[in-house]
Amino acid sequence: MRVNRLVEVDEAGPLAALQAVLHGLWERNGLVAMLAPLESEGGREVSPQIAEEPRAVAAVNPFAPVMPANAAALVVDFAREHQPGPLAAVLRPCEWRAVVELRKRRRTTPEADRVTTIAVDCLGCHSAGVWSERTRAASPSDIWREALTYADQGGFTPQSLRRGCQMCTAPAVRDAELTIGLFGLNTSCALLASCPDEATDARLHMAEIAPRLASEELVVRREVALGELAERRGRQRDILSQEAQRRGGGLAEVLGLFANCSLCGDCLDACPLYNGELAGMLGVRSARHGGRSLLAELVELGRWLASCSGCGMCEEVCSCRVPLLDIVSPLSQRVRDEIAYRPGDRAAALPWVASGS
Ligand code: SF4
Ligand code: SF4
Ligand code: SF4
Repeated sequence: MRVNRLVEVDEAGPLAALQAVLHGLWERNGLVAMLAPLESEGGREVSPQIAEEPRAVAAVNPFAPVMPANAAALVVDFAREHQPGPLAAVLRPCEWRAVVELRKRRRTTPEADRVTTIAVDCLGCHSAGVWSERTRAASPSDIWREALTYADQGGFTPQSLRRGCQMCTAPAVRDAELTIGLFGLNTSCALLASCPDEATDARLHMAEIAPRLASEELVVRREVALGELAERRGRQRDILSQEAQRRGGGLAEVLGLFANCSLCGDCLDACPLYNGELAGMLGVRSARHGGRSLLAELVELGRWLASCSGCGMCEEVCSCRVPLLDIVSPLSQRVRDEIAYRPGDRAAALPWVASGS
């Protein structure tokens, strides 16, 4: 049974309360290191980095609405470079989904499986440009504090978020070993810390870190807020996808979206799940991909789209402003609908096992 604990927030604020939970986890579980969004430059820079000692938790800030990279791509190296000993990673839901999909696609290692995943409800991110503009006009802490004050309603207005986040219908996860809940809550008073079952709660020593159980009313409030947010984001996704279709959904129009593409490959490098699925189509032959049939390539392409975590990093890094999500988002949605698959669902097997994978 799920265990929901109350994280009380005092005058030091919700970030300090979250950091206290992470510090408690570190101490009680003897962590060796933690991969987490760490602040630098007075909070203007926030990127996934490795904290090597518990006091570095004071720089962890998953509330800052900026995401320069999908941290899932770093988990394997993080685990390889820090062994032996327990590890933890603080992730956004789309990063957590990508970790799950990487595991299913056998792109991780046994060392990476020992990383305890901590997923924080995500209020959405700005694009790098909007974030840097906003931090020129206001202090970074004012910006993320403002977002937290709207946590009970779902965070910033969608228009100020990058497009991937405007369409994200799953800004929270249930199956991480620890979930930090924000939605539907007055975050100046309380956060939620929940584990998927009693065994995980006991293994992580959560009763020592957050002794009080959360009320059923608080838990339900979060679920309701999440449901409403998912509905709003779903409507937003439909609007954006209808706009894309109005601009034209035929092959010529789709190819037209790439008119500005410089073939730099940055979008593929930014995708935590890309593993050469387009290599054949792009004419890149390697020892690993050179011998595959067209069918095998299509199968792998379908698996990639099915696994897409919706992080939007492919579009975010494109300096030529190619609207990649106009292609990736409807395509991956159609593939998932077709095969009734949900990325990040640990129980569901990844379909289509291509030979040699
Ligand atoms: S895609 Fe979803 S989980 Fe990822 S940063 Fe945006 S809102 Fe958060
Ligand atoms: S990042 Fe943009 S310009 Fe570069 S290959 Fe991808 S779509 Fe083309
Ligand atoms: S295809 Fe784009 S949105 Fe999907 S996981 Fe890769 S980078 Fe994220």
